[in-house]
Amino acid sequence: MAERTLIIVKPDAVQRHLAGRIIERFESKGLKLVAAKLMQISEELARRHYAAHKDKPFFERAVKFMASSPSLVMIWQADGIVDIVRKMIGSTFGYEAQPGTIRGDFGCSQRYNLIHGSDSPESARNEIKMFFTPDEIVDYDLADAGWLYSTRIGPKK
Ligand code: ATP
Ligand code: MG
Repeated sequence: MAERTLIIVKPDAVQRHLAGRIIERFESKGLKLVAAKLMQISEELARRHYAAHKDKPFFERAVKFMASSPSLVMIWQADGIVDIVRKMIGSTFGYEAQPGTIRGDFGCSQRYNLIHGSDSPESARNEIKMFFTPDEIVDYDLADAGWLYSTRIGPKK
C-alpha cells in the first residue's frame, strides 16, 4: 500500500477560510484523499498528538491552540507522501517559511501555523490511529493514476 500521512488543517486555517485552498494544493499535486473529518480536537487528544514535545516550553500553548476551534483532519496517500507534504507545508512558522509553501504563502504569525503534516512514515501511522478508525479510511483507485504516477523506466533507485 502506498504511504499515508496525517494532515491537520488547524484552527487558524479553518477560521481564515483557507481549508479549500489548502486541499486544492494537495489535489493539484496528484495526492489521493482517503479520509477527512471536521472535528473539535480535545486538549487530551492534542496532548497525545504532540506528546513528543511534552517537555518543550511551547507544549501547553501548542495544545491550547489545537483545541481552540475546529480542525479539518485528513489522511492523504501517495508513494513518498510524508516528504512531499512536508516540503509543500514549509518550515514551522510562516514568517520564516519559503514563499511557495503553504505556511510561506498564507501566514506570517509566530504563533499560529495553519497546518500539520506527519514528520515520518512511523509518526504518520501512529497519528492516523489516534484520529481515525480503520472504517473511516476509504481506499480507491484514481482514474488518472497512470498519468500521475507513471513509473520511471529502468531500475528503481
Ligand atoms: P507540526 O508538528 O504542527 O506539523 P512542525 O513539525 O513544523 O509542526 P514541531 O517542531 O513538530 O513543528 O512543533 C509542533 C508545534 O508546536 C508547531 O506546529 C507549533 O505550533 C508549536 N511550536 C513549535 N516550535 C515552537 C516554538 N519555538 N515556539 C512556539 N511554538 C512552537
Ligand atoms: Mg511536527
